[in-house]
This record gives sequence, structure tokens and C-alpha cells, in this order.
Amino acid sequence: MRIFDPHIHMTSRTTDDYERMAAAGVRAVVEPAFWLGQPRTSVDTFVDYFDSLLGWEPFRAGQFGVRHHATVALNPREANDPRCHPVLDVLPRYLDKDGVVAVGEIGYDSMTPAEDAAFAGQLALAVAHDLPALVHTPLRDKARGVERTLAVVAESGIDPGRVLVDHLNEVTVRLVRDTGCWLGFSIYPETMSPPRMVELLRAYGTERMLVNSAADWGRSDPLLTRATGEAMLLAGFTEDDVDRVLWRNPFEFYGQSGRLDLADLDRPSA
Ligand SMILES: [Zn+2]
Repeated sequence: MRIFDPHIHMTSRTTDDYERMAAAGVRAVVEPAFWLGQPRTSVDTFVDYFDSLLGWEPFRAGQFGVRHHATVALNPREANDPRCHPVLDVLPRYLDKDGVVAVGEIGYDSMTPAEDAAFAGQLALAVAHDLPALVHTPLRDKARGVERTLAVVAESGIDPGRVLVDHLNEVTVRLVRDTGCWLGFSIYPETMSPPRMVELLRAYGTERMLVNSAADWGRSDPLLTRATGEAMLLAGFTEDDVDRVLWRNPFEFYGQSGRLDLADLDRPSA
């Protein structure tokens, strides 16, 4: 089983995780820039963080045979802190870098006017830099958050085929299914389980469906991508179905950046 985790925050994980992931078949990851828990107080800490996502973390991943790419953005939560807004001025410089395969994660946390502005502004950056966009959806008030997300995406003029709407569930999947956007599902120990994900794949098929662990500094598990692949096989999906969801779909989505460098990893699994 070859696995491409399209959303995982390796900065918050240990080398043991990299080892276990590589052993489980994870060959590639995308690490979106996000909120680190402790509020940032200046743009300089974003710069150091982005440099780490494009320098140190790919090096660390490479030691375990895992290919690492990143997405950069002002995350929804910190869009509410004026001290963080200057990062919008340094983003264009990072969006030109080779290791950056999308703008993200952007979108809504609490659906404030400040988040509206940061979201729309960064979708415009994605269009200007010809990059896909990774869109986080809120944990609370999810359906309303996704509706508002889709309205902003439509208004931005970005091709929906270049947008991944993430953290969906049984309710919100219906809102996104027919928009042309890609659908992301984060498999967490306490919310979306592998069996629940299998039911969603049964109901909606494998097209444009992405599965990630979204593992970070909270309770999460970087091996739940693999667990989902195994649950799919147990439920009667073919190995080709699993390969599509866990490898070819993320490959195709981020491949739209023209920067995905997986050449020697793209062999079928043995
Ligand atoms: Zn995330």
C-alpha cells in the first residue's frame, strides 16, 4: 500500500512517527502551515516557521524515505490577530518557492470579518500564483461554515477543481459533492473513524476524495491513513480503489501546482 498523506503537521511529530509512517507505506506528505497553539507575536516567527517547513522538515522526512512538501498561508485562527497580518506581505515570496504546492490552510475558524478578508485575499493569491488552495473548515457550526466557505470560493473565481475543502463529515460532504471541489476527510481517533470513512466512500465513491490524518500537537494518529486503507480492503474495495484514494488523488490534486516532486516514488507498490 503506497500512501500520500495530504495533510499532516510533522513539525509537531517525532522521528518515531516518521519511522512508523514509512514502515506503514507513507511515502509522501504535505504539511500545511497552521496554528502552533502558542500565539505568534510577530511576522518574524512566521518567516522562521515557513523556512522550517521548506528546509528542515523535508530534510528530516528524507532521512526516513518520506518526501515532504508544504503549503503556506496565514491560518484562519491567527487571521484574527492584527500582529500576524504582515505575513500576508511576505507570502508572495514563499508562494514562488519549489517546495510549496498550494496556498493553505486558509478558510474559517470562527467566521469573523477578519477571517473573511484573509480567506478571500489568499484565494486571490492562489489564483495569481497559479496554485491550488487547501481550505480548512470550522470545527464548530460546520454546515454553516462550509456553506460560507463555498460562497467565498465561488466569488473568488478560482477553478473549483483547484480547491480542496477539508475536514468534511457525513453532513458537510453533501454540500461540497457537486461543486467540483476536492473533498478532504481527516481521520481522527475520536471523531471520523476508518469505518465511518469507508461508509462515506461507499456512498459517494472514490473520485476527488482525499483521506488525511491531519496529525498535529493534539490527539491524533499519523497511521490512520493506513488503517483506512485496510478498512477499505476489508469492506470489499479493491487495491486499486485504495491506491486511488491514498495515492493517486492527492498526487493529482497537488500535482496541479506543477511542483510535486515524487518522480522516483511514483512506482506501484510491490
Ligand atoms: Zn491542519
